Amino acid sequence: MDRYRVQPGTRVNLKDWDPDDKANFEKGKSKGLKAVLKLSERLELLQELLFAQGKHKILIVLQAMDTGGKDGVIRRVFDGVNPQGVKVASFKVPTPEDLAHDYLWRIHKQTPGKGEIVIFNRSHYEDVLVVRVQNLAPPDIWEKRFDHINAFERLLADEGTTILKFYLHISADEQKARLQARLDEPDKRWKFNPGDLKDRALWGDYMHAYEDVLSKTSMPWAPWYIVPANRKWYRDLVIGTVLVETLEKLKMRYPEPAEDLDKIVIE
Ligand code: ADP
Repeated sequence: MDRYRVQPGTRVNLKDWDPDDKANFEKGKSKGLKAVLKLSERLELLQELLFAQGKHKILIVLQAMDTGGKDGVIRRVFDGVNPQGVKVASFKVPTPEDLAHDYLWRIHKQTPGKGEIVIFNRSHYEDVLVVRVQNLAPPDIWEKRFDHINAFERLLADEGTTILKFYLHISADEQKARLQARLDEPDKRWKFNPGDLKDRALWGDYMHAYEDVLSKTSMPWAPWYIVPANRKWYRDLVIGTVLVETLEKLKMRYPEPAEDLDKIVIE
């Protein structure tokens, strides 16, 4: 899956990244869906090991335009994991209390502890995306944030957090179809938010802001992956594979029992 990883120091132009790409799995959708199921079963075991060992901390950042599929990834890839060890932190419009602090304050509190996986559904990157595009802060404020964010993630990594960041890349046409489906299908209407149209009208500005994020903040210790996300099954396959491969590299083991359990007799 290295082809989707943004190499540090390269300039990303999203026009060069095909949201329909499925180059790593040519066997088609139905086999792809089966592969995703297998990956989520494997993830279930690896997460149990992570929780039992209580040593590693895993932070997964999900960013996307509206309808990009963040919720779908959480539902499908993390299907079977034990909720005790996995937390989803969703970052919405900051509260007055959040705004009374620096922008990383609400973020740092949600980062994973030992044995935990935390999934960020949106993240501190909103502070250089929506804040920039919607002019919520002037450039001299948000421009400095790329350095803060790199330093913050370096701190987390130095202290033992494994960080993976996924940008779910959909096309403007695919977003149109997904928004239309939210209008047309009664059980999807609850997801329709007229505010999404305001962001859609600024699509080009968002792509430009994302290109800056992806170019400036993909680091060896906190890489970005640009996930082709027009096909949901392929999106899940890419993310599931990267997660499973990353967790397997940690070479986790169940902790040794405190004493010789073979000698214990239960009457
Ligand atoms: P989602 O779209 O993630 O399912 P919502 O529809 O509730 O959830 O949208 C959350 C909103 O919060 C988004 O419009 C997003 O841009 C906004 N948001 C998140 N973080 C910030 C931030 N730091 N500053 C301003 N707006 C933010």
